[in-house]
Amino acid sequence: MKLQHKIALITGAGSGIGKTTAIRFAKEGAIVIVNDRDTEKGQSVVQEIKELGGTATFLCADVTSAESVLYMIEQAIAAYGHIDILFNNAGISGIGLLHEIEPDAWQAVMDVNIKGVYLTSKYVLPYMMAKRSGSIINMSSCIAEIGLANRASYAASKGAILALTKSMQVDYAPYNIRVNALLPGTILTPFVEQYLRTSYDDPEQAMATLKTRQLSGDLGTPEDVASAALFLASDESKFMMGSPLYIDGGVVFGKNA
Ligand code: NAP
Repeated sequence: MKLQHKIALITGAGSGIGKTTAIRFAKEGAIVIVNDRDTEKGQSVVQEIKELGGTATFLCADVTSAESVLYMIEQAIAAYGHIDILFNNAGISGIGLLHEIEPDAWQAVMDVNIKGVYLTSKYVLPYMMAKRSGSIINMSSCIAEIGLANRASYAASKGAILALTKSMQVDYAPYNIRVNALLPGTILTPFVEQYLRTSYDDPEQAMATLKTRQLSGDLGTPEDVASAALFLASDESKFMMGSPLYIDGGVVFGKNA
């Protein structure tokens, strides 16, 4: 088991990539702290992990609220004493051309996708620094590296996370803390299903078009990203520091036709 006895906190783990990673980490022996702002979804993930013989606990918090995040970290520390792995996964999408995006909608994307990473890391880092060990995985996106139509706010937020990851790594390397970023391409999760439903008249046609973007000819799965997260969380990636890890079916570095 690659994460035996490790304490892993995953934000936004009630759904999609976070949920699948929580289950994967638990199968690898981690004690998983499942965070989400939705209690029902988070608790059902904990239940699933327990049924599989793993160990998990749910802590509700909205990652955009300093008070909420601080309370969550205090509860986690009270229960387990330290946190070995932080996966900053919670995120929301943002759609629209820049001139059409209302300020509140822009801010909502920045709050979850950037401020959420800042706040959760801020309150976890002192415990990792004291233990002089830790692995932080920040959820960016391949959109940090490419131009994609209609996603100005989302692209800005994920580009910020890639830049933040590199600077965090420099600052916390002296404490033996690794900070790396995941850059998934399009992964079939409720996040993408909702995007297809709300943005296209014909979601099936849109899905077919979406598939052609990848050299693989298909979308990625949450399991594909969970495998990458497991690699970054474990000592198998001990020489990876401040790195972007692409899981994108060739979207960034390949070109169809
Ligand atoms: P998802 O299925 O929507 O899961 C995201 C989870 O985060 C949801 O349970 C969501 O709860 C939760 N969340 C949102 N805001 C939160 C907050 N303020 N506090 C706590 N939890 C919050 O999405 P996903 O596709 O798995 O995406 C996970 C991450 O991967 C995101 O950061 C996303 O940007 C990134 N990503 C996804 C893709 C993709 O193609 N799917 C590609 C690249 C990167 P609610 O349902 O209540 O919002």
